[in-house]
Amino acid sequence: MRNPTSLAINRSADIVEGAPVTATVDLAAIRHNARILQERAGEAELMAVIKADAYGHGARPVARAAHEAGVRHYGVARLPEGIHLREDGHTGRILVLGAPSPEQLPRYADHDLDLTVSSADVAAAVLRRASPTAPLRVHVKVDTGMGRLGLPPDDVPAILARLSDAPGVRLAGLWTHFATADASGSAFAQTQLDRFRAVVEAVDVDVEHVHAANTGALLTVGEPAYDFGASLVRSGIALYGLAATPELSARLDLRPAMRLTARVTQLKTVPAGTPISYGARWQAPRRTRIATLGAGYGDGYPRRGSGRASVRIGGASCPVVGTICMDMCMIDLGPPDQAPATRVERGDEAVLFGPAGPTAHEVAQWSDTIPYEIFCGVSPRVPRRYTDRADDASVQARPVQPAASDA
Ligand SMILES: *Cc1c(COP(=O)(O)O)cnc(C)c1O
Repeated sequence: MRNPTSLAINRSADIVEGAPVTATVDLAAIRHNARILQERAGEAELMAVIKADAYGHGARPVARAAHEAGVRHYGVARLPEGIHLREDGHTGRILVLGAPSPEQLPRYADHDLDLTVSSADVAAAVLRRASPTAPLRVHVKVDTGMGRLGLPPDDVPAILARLSDAPGVRLAGLWTHFATADASGSAFAQTQLDRFRAVVEAVDVDVEHVHAANTGALLTVGEPAYDFGASLVRSGIALYGLAATPELSARLDLRPAMRLTARVTQLKTVPAGTPISYGARWQAPRRTRIATLGAGYGDGYPRRGSGRASVRIGGASCPVVGTICMDMCMIDLGPPDQAPATRVERGDEAVLFGPAGPTAHEVAQWSDTIPYEIFCGVSPRVPRRYTDRADDASVQARPVQPAASDA
């Protein structure tokens, strides 16, 4: 196996220099967040959830950074995500959180991936396929109230007993997932935890790890959600520097890792009454300076934010005006003879979201969604640029930081 720390990260300047839109990911922030989460999780071990290309941040570099921070458990959603990670040389445990299809089972054995036993059908397929020469590592999932994947609690002891008797099966986990843990003091999260505890107590076979907590449960339910002994905390969003709400985010010293920036591709001064963008729904209320930015909903900047979003540029917050287009959007820099208009030139970068604001929470609010969807929505065509503010002088020295105030 190759050492994951030797993985090359694509920092190729010709891909990102001058790009109209760029997602800059700070790997030092990922490492910092991983350490903070591990600290909070106490005796439990952190599972870094890096599904959906690490919530848009890039699974390879994020997995590498997490590894550097001591992470040895990874969670992905789909089989190919797990295979890619294994092929990149990671030797830690990789759990595919989604339901496997029976024909995929040999691939789990081939790549030493942990699989989710999400139903009696999957359990039966595992019992048929597992063999001592191609063992399967399984995490049996209990549906305690999420209503998505998992066995009914009453079915678990019998199925676990059968799996435990099968020679080619390794009981790597017993787990569940919360539906409402993002809300502090959720009675339903407590109900789910009680149901899960009852299952754990009813089971009398050895299981490597018992796990329930996601980021929300780590922060709101706290220790009872991960004090099972040999537990894991499956954290995704907090690894990227946020929790589901600003209030939850503030409970840990997290650092948002991603900054999405777009360049000014055109500047013009327009007279009062000038319509801007599709539908001509916005007209300049006065003579004003308009900048066109090279990012739109095709890059993951939600069209739904039209009329509500703003960006940071020239040391100010400027509103996005008119309808957000697929590849571009327009912002109002205000009176042409005043800052920020006087400070902004073609080629400058505006921050669509980042650690210094606007935050991904705000972008989510403007478009009636959650930060998860904002991150995952940053489309593959947006070049990712990786920085490492803690220890990578060569990257720091590059003229790639658009605003010193963002550091
Ligand atoms: C995505 C996911 C997580 C991570 O959730 P966060 O809220 O991002 O911490 C944990 N467990 C399961 C089953 C998931 O699907």
